[in-house]
Amino acid sequence: MSHAGSSIVDRHQRPLRDLRLSVTDRCNFRCRYCMPEEIFGPDYTFLPRQELLTFEEMERLVRLFVQLGVKKVRITGGEPLLRRDLPLLVRKIRRVKGVKDLALTTNAFLLDRYAVALQKAGLDRINVSLDALDDEVFANMNGGRSSVEKVLSGIDAATRAGLAVKVNMVVQKGVNDHQILPMARYFYKKGIPLRFIEFMDVGNHNGWNTDQVVSKQEILHILQEELPLEPLEPGYFGEVATRYRYRDTQTEVGIISSVTDSFCGSCTRARLSADGKLYTCLFASAGADLRGPLRAGEEDEQLLQRISGIWGKRADRYSDERAHNSPRSRQKVEMSYIGG
Ligand code: SAM
Ligand code: SF4
Ligand code: SF4
Repeated sequence: MSHAGSSIVDRHQRPLRDLRLSVTDRCNFRCRYCMPEEIFGPDYTFLPRQELLTFEEMERLVRLFVQLGVKKVRITGGEPLLRRDLPLLVRKIRRVKGVKDLALTTNAFLLDRYAVALQKAGLDRINVSLDALDDEVFANMNGGRSSVEKVLSGIDAATRAGLAVKVNMVVQKGVNDHQILPMARYFYKKGIPLRFIEFMDVGNHNGWNTDQVVSKQEILHILQEELPLEPLEPGYFGEVATRYRYRDTQTEVGIISSVTDSFCGSCTRARLSADGKLYTCLFASAGADLRGPLRAGEEDEQLLQRISGIWGKRADRYSDERAHNSPRSRQKVEMSYIGG
């Protein structure tokens, strides 16, 4: 069987296009909506080193995923910059023919240290997560682990290094919604695209309920009161953000509305955990082990069939069906493990 150039599709005819690669389940932040300190404290057991995929194993899997249609790879975590020698992995993935876009999602705490090395290794883009410009609000959200200044200096370092940077802000009602406009003003002036993310019911520990979601419509309303926007066409099939630009400028702003305006119909993303489990949805309860077969010596062809089989059976539509799901009925994979 040859897979070259083909793109496999799932049960809803969605092609496999993107791979999110988690490189660690550890993080130097304790964002309340992702890794609350009470759960992810000193006694929490993270993955032992030998269970993590090596860079060679990741490179091989990326090569196989590309044969099945993947064009974009995003490195994530936990906090990916905690994985030692990450630029080496970037270099390996950059060498895989067919990877058109190589990106990283980070909290930026260590970015000023690594920006140049990442750019030199061939990274195209960085998404930095920052939820507030006010230090007190930010510290309250990240578990007291970082100042705003530290993240902004990481963003500056990445820009100086020549990396394309976008900033992501998770909006939680009553927590940081008053930061929507200050964040928009700041990144508008800097000419850096900012994307607001609706607070999601990922994982099992963030106490999510709909009252804490600030909807896309509410965010738009707040923005437009001060900064008029013009809608933009989606950049490509499956783009998660609804895009706008500030009127008469080239600076973009976007909203990722996974809760109030879900987009499962165009979801082309597969997720690989740091220990090599393949998840076909951010809200899945379980993943399919690829590390075992890989370490047991399976040939490429068998692995390709394995992955195709999993994608072919995929029917996930969690966000589209959210209103009908009973939210506490099942365990979900943790965001810090799967990486968003
Ligand atoms: N540590 C890195 C970071 O924060 O950028 C990468 C991993 S983090 C899990 C990936 C993204 O998921 C971040 O932008 C984070 O804000 C987002 N995220 C985590 N929990 C979320 C939630 N409950 N709702 C919406 N976004 C969430
Ligand atoms: Fe860490 Fe990112 Fe989760 Fe915050 S959102 S705790 S930075 S993994
Ligand atoms: Fe994709 Fe699952 Fe999110 Fe729907 S809920 S967009 S299928 S990851």
